[in-house]
Amino acid sequence: MISESGIIRHTHLLEKERIVVTDGIFRDTWVEIDLNAIEYNIKRMRETLPQDTNIIAVIKADAYGHGSVPVARTALQSGAKMLAVALLEEALVLREAGIDAPILVFGWVAPEATQIAAEAAITLTFYQKEWLQEVNKLTFNKKLNLHMKWDTGMGRVGIRTENELKQVLDELNCNPSIYLTGVYTHFASADDTDLSYFNEQRARFEKLLTEFKRLWPHPIDVHIGNSAASLRLPKEMYDYIRFGISMYGLYPSKAVKQEENIALRPAFSMHSKLIHVKRVPAGESISYGGTYQTTTDEWIGTIPIGYGDGWLRKLQGFSILIDGKPQQIVGRICMDQTMIRLDKDYPVGTKVTLIGKQDHAVIEMDDVADYLDTINYEIPCTINKRIPRIYKGSL
Ligand SMILES: *Cc1c(COP(=O)(O)O)cnc(C)c1O
Repeated sequence: MISESGIIRHTHLLEKERIVVTDGIFRDTWVEIDLNAIEYNIKRMRETLPQDTNIIAVIKADAYGHGSVPVARTALQSGAKMLAVALLEEALVLREAGIDAPILVFGWVAPEATQIAAEAAITLTFYQKEWLQEVNKLTFNKKLNLHMKWDTGMGRVGIRTENELKQVLDELNCNPSIYLTGVYTHFASADDTDLSYFNEQRARFEKLLTEFKRLWPHPIDVHIGNSAASLRLPKEMYDYIRFGISMYGLYPSKAVKQEENIALRPAFSMHSKLIHVKRVPAGESISYGGTYQTTTDEWIGTIPIGYGDGWLRKLQGFSILIDGKPQQIVGRICMDQTMIRLDKDYPVGTKVTLIGKQDHAVIEMDDVADYLDTINYEIPCTINKRIPRIYKGSL
């Protein structure tokens, strides 16, 4: 992944911060991923968990846009015992990178693809009798590990009743290559101020678990908690927590953020550079549609990022940091470029921070999410691969 050869134009800018950069990056906009922050968040979480509750690092969607392979390696070195992704493809990427830790796939995988999963020692999720019947017809060279998903109120996927549970367990005894190694559920509102629905889900889960243990007296792993549940009730998370958003240093909601169970460190920051600066007289239009007109003589800067990078058009009017000060985006955001009203003249090449810290100022992922009327999860997932991820810290 990391190479020290090649021509890197912004090495001079980054070398003070000991950043190792990948080959072939020529653009002046980049995301920095602080792997030390990921390590820190995992270790702080680890300290609050009982000894026998382990961590599954959730790295679906390319580790929430942070890059799945470096995050996986960091998470495993920091104490995570398992990885989880949404797709079989995402699991195979990790195997191809030489990662041999246990991997759980949360999403539905077609029965025809289960032999590939078994071959790569990838654990799959299931919740349908019909799916098991199809898989039971196949022969496996290596064993296939499965976790069973229970729908206790999320309303998405999973077994809902004791009757369904019984039917599925009957089907599980049919193929000697297939092993049930875990059961789990997922909470719909563990991040709410009001935890009554969360507690209802927990009660349903416990009822199903009691019935399950009666019918299936074999040891299996049990896991229920996402970041929100794990931060709030670390002692009640059974064998594993599924640590996603907070591993990246973000809180699952305002309610959880206020509780400050753990002081998390964000791993993701995004930066660019001024590529053009000009003095514009009053009454001039900036960008498509002339939605912004200068009201006086103004300094206008241009940065090379736009909606083609996932820096959405709706961010017009949002402020980013230059010289440690907030400076406003003016005019429509273009596909590749964005204009900023500057408080003074700055040289071309001046660093711009769109997400993260600059001097004492900070733009949090939550600020971007609030401006876009969405949740922080969506932001790093939306900032696409056109913006290179540069890794900082030990790996
Ligand atoms: C994404 C996901 C998680 C992680 O949730 P966070 O809120 O990011 O911690 C856990 N479990 C399942 C099933 C998921 O899909």
